[in-house]
This record gives sequence, C-alpha cells and structure tokens, in this order.
Amino acid sequence: MKTAPAPTPPPQRDDIVDLAPAGRRFTGADRRAPLRKALKRWGQYGPGQTAGRFYPMACVALEVTQRCNLDCALCYLSDSAEMVHDVPLPVLYERIAMLESHYGPKTSIQITGGDPTLRSAEDLEAICRHIRARGMRSCLMTNGIRASRDLLARLAAAGLDDVAFHVDLTQERKGYPTEASLNTVREAYIARARGLGLRILFNTTVFEGNLAEIPVIAGFFRAHAAALTLVSFQLQADTGRGVLRERHGAVTRESVMAAISDGMGTTFDFDVAAVGHEACNRYASVLVAGDEAISALGNPALFQEVFKALEEAERLCGGYLLRRKTIPRAALRNPWLTLRMLGHGLKLIWRLRGGLRASRGRVHRLSVHVHNFMDASRLERDRCDSCVFMVATEDGPLSMCVHNARRDHHLLAPARVETADGIRWWSAATGRLTETPEAAEIPEIPAKRRKGRLRAATLPARSKGHPG
Ligand code: SF4
Repeated sequence: MKTAPAPTPPPQRDDIVDLAPAGRRFTGADRRAPLRKALKRWGQYGPGQTAGRFYPMACVALEVTQRCNLDCALCYLSDSAEMVHDVPLPVLYERIAMLESHYGPKTSIQITGGDPTLRSAEDLEAICRHIRARGMRSCLMTNGIRASRDLLARLAAAGLDDVAFHVDLTQERKGYPTEASLNTVREAYIARARGLGLRILFNTTVFEGNLAEIPVIAGFFRAHAAALTLVSFQLQADTGRGVLRERHGAVTRESVMAAISDGMGTTFDFDVAAVGHEACNRYASVLVAGDEAISALGNPALFQEVFKALEEAERLCGGYLLRRKTIPRAALRNPWLTLRMLGHGLKLIWRLRGGLRASRGRVHRLSVHVHNFMDASRLERDRCDSCVFMVATEDGPLSMCVHNARRDHHLLAPARVETADGIRWWSAATGRLTETPEAAEIPEIPAKRRKGRLRAATLPARSKGHPG
C-alpha cells in the first residue's frame, strides 16, 4: 500500500464544517420534523423516503473510546486519537439522555470508538444497560479482535441488541492477504455471536484494493444469510488518519452496488426505499433460500403506496416507528393494497422455489446498505443538512461527516459533568475535571503514539501488517 505524506489540514468550507450540533435537548413537538424538513428542503423527501417519515434518525454513534488495536489504512480517527482519554461514564450517560431527547425510543445507538472493546467489560455492560433502560437499541461496533463469546454473552445479558463486525483488507490483518481469506475471520465471528440473541451485522470498507473481491464477500454473506441481519458497505473516503486518502475512479456507488448484486447472484432494487440523501445511502433488501437470492423490493409504485398507507395508519395510531399495530391497521384499511402485496409475496416465493426445496422452506431476509461518506475537504451542504447518521457530541448530535472533518475540535470540547460538588468540566486531553470550562480547554494535544499518517510519515515504507 502507498504511504502518504505528513498530514496537512484539509481545506474546509467554513459554512459547512462550522455547522453546529443540534443542541443538548430537543424542544419541538415531532422528533421527525427536523430531518423531514431538511430532506424536503433538498428535494430528498420523495414517496420512497423512509427517514423523517417512519423514524427521526437512522442511527447515532456514541464514541466511548478513541483507542484502537488496529491501524486501518482508511481509519476515520484523528491523528491524536491515541492520546485522548476515554469518556467517563457520567458523560456518556448524559449523551445517551441527550440522544433519547432528540430521537426517542427504539433509536439505534452505535457503541463505537476506536474499538469499544478496549474499555472494560463492566463499562460496556453499564452502557448497554443504560441504553436499554431508556428504551433505545444498542449495537457494538467492533473489529472483533477482543469481542470474545464471553464478552458478547455478558453484553447481551446487559441489553446489547446488535453486534457489527468490521472486517476487510484495510485492516491489514497479518496472514490474511485477500478478502476470500478473511472469510474465515468472518465465519469465526459469526460463530462467536450466534445463539446469544444478538443480531449480527458486518461492515466492509470498499477501496480499490478489494473492489474486485466484493462479489466474494457478498457471496459469503448470501451463504450466511440465516445468521445475518444487515451488511453495510462503506466507500473509501478521505477523512481521518488513514493513509490511503481519497478514492480514485473505480470505486463508485454504482460499481459497488453492481459488485454486490453480482456476488449475491441477483439484481437489487437500490432505488425503492430511500434512507436519507440518495448520494449518501442506498438501501436494498434481499430474500435468500438455499442458494437462491432475490430482491425483496421491486415494484416501486406498489411500495410507495404501502409507505403511504403505513404513514396514514401511524398517524391514526398516534405514533411512529412502525408500531406492531400499525401494519395490521394499514392492511385492514387498504384491502386491495393488501391483496396486491400478497400477490407480490407469492411471486417472490415462486421465484425462490428452487432454493426453497434446498432450504426446507426457510427464507431469510438480509438488508444491504451502501454508505458513501464524504471527504473531509469536500463536504456538501445538502448532504450534511439531511444526514441520517449522527454522532453524539457534547453540544448535541452532529452529522458524522461534519464531525469527522473536525474531530479534534469536537473531541476536545470540555464536557459538562454533574458531581456531588456541583458542575465540573472534563477534558478529553487530560482526563481531569476542572471547575470551569476554560480550564478544561486544550487546543491540541501531542500525538505521542503514532498511527495512520503520522506513523507512515516516519517510516520508509508502510509495514506489511498488524496483529489480527
Ligand atoms: S454521515 Fe455523511 S455520508 Fe453518512 S448520511 Fe451523514 S452526511 Fe451522508
């Protein structure tokens, strides 16, 4: 892999990177309204849009550490990440309360980092319990190295809902030169998590070095669809300390979607159900039986009618987030639409008939997500405004892309903590509490432990691998 020159700050458009977080508490009446308004403003609220219609936010990252046991070639962490102290539990609890205020129950909170498993099991259990107690969902985002079955079992017992494993060639795991060879790692991770009541997800970063192998990975996911819920493919982006920087021509949303379809052996309908801005996210759903896979969506007009009926039923039920009673209510109110959906389902079963024999009638649904993060120096206002993937900061949720473009600025902001002695301020740079926010302000910290660009700049050539 190529090395990069020593880091230089990316040029940034001030009107975008200075976008403010959404505030510590939501004060409006409808939590979906801000996202819906932004999507409408930028022409992204079509009849297939699910964000802002059925939920106020797709997911939110809660970064519990900046430390990591890998040094990925496309890492989004900042150059000084390894010197930042872990956020104390009271600050994390306050951020969880802030997320509940903004997005309400059932919100998916990604417990992430760095790698969150570098924190103690007790801390992670406490975080999971806290999220569950507030009626939200939690997902552990990990490279899996320290996510033992024992740890996953403890976290599942504490309320963890999902585990998302990040495995791909950007991690340079020693002894795994291809994505095909990494399938043994993926297989081992599935075995660790299976049977614990957790939904299992996978994240894959796509870059030129593995684009040709995306069909191999997609084929693996199809073969293991019974164990998996969602697989996400994230395109290379120039943000953070990773050495590979910006992508070149071959990796595009179109080429990645085509490679996934190729590997799954079916054509996906990535344009039926939208999740936020179309330049950021593409969503598809696949049904798998035996070796057969088919798109679960298709027929955009029919699904748009279904969304409309569900929206109406939700309004009548006085809630959102597709409550259990919403679907039967929508079905009863729209008998002709229900019949057409049944017909759609029967057609899918007919098309799957070959695989159904092999799978003894079992069908598995797998969600496929393609996520297109932005380069730090090329933020686009419309996408930042209508972001569906936020990160929790001291001053409220903020678009992940905006956050990534100024990580240190947000990470080093003094964090308010309520103590028995009154309000204190915690500094990520020192790990200490101070009596005033000014005393906790440290403009920058030395990057003593070098990773990513800083490490590459000191080496004649990038070392071949990392323990994995
Ligand atoms: S994180 Fe970035 S790429 Fe993802 S939805 Fe938000 S603005 Fe778009």
